[in-house]
Amino acid sequence: EWIDLAELMEQAVNKARLKAADKALKLEYTAEGAPQWMYTDGARMEQIVLNLLENAIRYTEKGTVSMRLSFEAGGVKLAVRDTGIGIPEDELPFIFERFYRVEKSRSRMHGGTGLGLSIVHKLTGLLGGAITVASRPGEGTCFELYFDLRLRPGKDRV
Ligand code: ATP
Ligand code: MG
Repeated sequence: EWIDLAELMEQAVNKARLKAADKALKLEYTAEGAPQWMYTDGARMEQIVLNLLENAIRYTEKGTVSMRLSFEAGGVKLAVRDTGIGIPEDELPFIFERFYRVEKSRSRMHGGTGLGLSIVHKLTGLLGGAITVASRPGEGTCFELYFDLRLRPGKDRV
């Protein structure tokens, strides 16, 4: 289906707004040069974004959660960045596994089951995308997703 990407992203960010406000976090969203329309599965795309925003908010105690949508190398890039607790380098290879949670002791106080990122990873693959993560403990985390793009014939200019 053709989905209105700009609208989907804005709705997802708005759904996350209350959670961010509860923790007095800044929630920023910017879209730069991204196409308005994308041929993809809107429900899955929304689930991906909501999971990443939920994590970013859950694992951040102060500062900013920012999401950025852009157009790069012929596709759509989505970056979700936070200023939270971060993920130790030696745990990064495992975070997309089902039920994996970083440092069980620290995770217990945050609730959750360890499924969110495995779902994000699976759905990103189903939509033909790729996901990478960069993180520094005590500084923050950034998830980047990249999707190839199909344009609407005769309708889109990029
Ligand atoms: P669920 O998403 O099922 O409610 P969860 O958030 O613990 O539970 P995942 O979303 O799969 O599970 O994340 C796996 C683990 O990766 C988390 O337990 C957390 O330790 C770590 N993690 C995920 N996102 C972040 C983030 N933005 N900053 C710091 N750690 C994160
Ligand atoms: Mg999660």
